[in-house]
Amino acid sequence: MRAVIMNEPHEIHTGDWDTPRPGEGQVLVSVGAAGICAGDMYIYQGKNPYAVYPVVAGHEIAGQVVEVGAGVTGIEPGMRVVVEPFIGCGHCYPCRVGKSNCCANLRIIGVHMPGGYADYVTAPARNIHLIPDGLSTFDATFTEPVAIGVQACRRAEVGAEYVLILGCGPIGLALIEAARARGATVVATDVVESRLETARQLGAETLLANEALVETIMAQTHGEGAPVVIEATGNPRAMEQTVDLVAAGGRICIVGLVKRGTMINFPGLDFTRKEMTIVGSRASVSCFPEALELLASGHIHYPKVATRFDLWDAPNVFRRLNEHPDAVQKGVLVRESATN
Ligand SMILES: [Zn+2]
Ligand SMILES: [Zn+2]
Repeated sequence: MRAVIMNEPHEIHTGDWDTPRPGEGQVLVSVGAAGICAGDMYIYQGKNPYAVYPVVAGHEIAGQVVEVGAGVTGIEPGMRVVVEPFIGCGHCYPCRVGKSNCCANLRIIGVHMPGGYADYVTAPARNIHLIPDGLSTFDATFTEPVAIGVQACRRAEVGAEYVLILGCGPIGLALIEAARARGATVVATDVVESRLETARQLGAETLLANEALVETIMAQTHGEGAPVVIEATGNPRAMEQTVDLVAAGGRICIVGLVKRGTMINFPGLDFTRKEMTIVGSRASVSCFPEALELLASGHIHYPKVATRFDLWDAPNVFRRLNEHPDAVQKGVLVRESATN
C-alpha cells in the first residue's frame, strides 16, 4: 500500500509500506481522512521519544471498514468508523481502575504502531467506533481532539458556569466547544490575535493574555476569580498563574504539556487558603462516544475552521507547517481516492 513514511526526524516521503492484515480481534480500515496533531509534528521534528522510525504517523483517523479478523462481532465491511488510537495493557493499576489513558505500558496507533497516514490501518475492534449518520468522514477526524476536550470537562466537572480557558491552540479550541456544550460561559485567552479570532467564531469571549490578565478576570468575576480554569498553553508561567486566576473552592485542570523536567511553583499556602482542586487531564478515556455525539449534534463547529490537504501532499504540508506553525488552525489530510 501507499503510505506517508517518516524515516528519521525531518525526513518525510510517500512510499510503499506492507499492507497490514487484520489479526484476531482486529479490524482493517481504509483511511478516508486523518487529522494533523501537534503530536504528529513532534514525530516529524524528532521530539517524540516514543516514536520508532521508520514510522507512519496519524492518530486522528476516520475511514471505512474493509475486513475484520477472527472473533470480531458487530463490525462489518462498509461501516464508516473512527479509530481510537490509545491501547492500554489492561493489567497495570491505571488500566485496572478504568484509566487506561495513563497506562504504564500505553501504546498509541500512529506512534508505537503504524497510523492513519496510509491507505490502510489496523486497530483492535474495541478501538473502533461507528460514525453516526449525517456526520462526514472529514468532520469525524475531529473525534479525537474533541474527546480530549470532553475528558478535560469531565475532569474539571464543568457545568453551566464561568470557565476560563488559557490557550486557543488546537486543544484549546476543542475545549471551548466541549465546555460550551455543557452550558459553560467560556472566556478564552491567548497571545496570538488570529487564534482569538477563531475562538470568538466558536462562541468564546476572548482576552489577550497580557500583564493585566489576573486583574481583568477578577473584575469580570466580582473579585472572586474563575470557578474553573483550564490550562491548555503548556506555558509554565501560565500554569503557575492558574492559582491566582481560580476562585477559592474552584477547580484547575491542567491539559497543556510542559517539557520534561520543567518545575512549576505555586504559593503553598494557597492550597489550604483557597482549597482549590487541581487535576491533570491526559488525552481521553471512554470519551469517543460522547465526542461523536457532540459532533453529530451540530454543536461543534471546530471542523469548519480546519484546512483540507491531500494526504499524498503530506511531505510538503509537514515541511510548511514546521516552518510556519500558525499557517493553519488545524490541518486534515484527506485521501481523495477513498470512497468517503
Ligand atoms: Zn491528536
Ligand atoms: Zn495498562
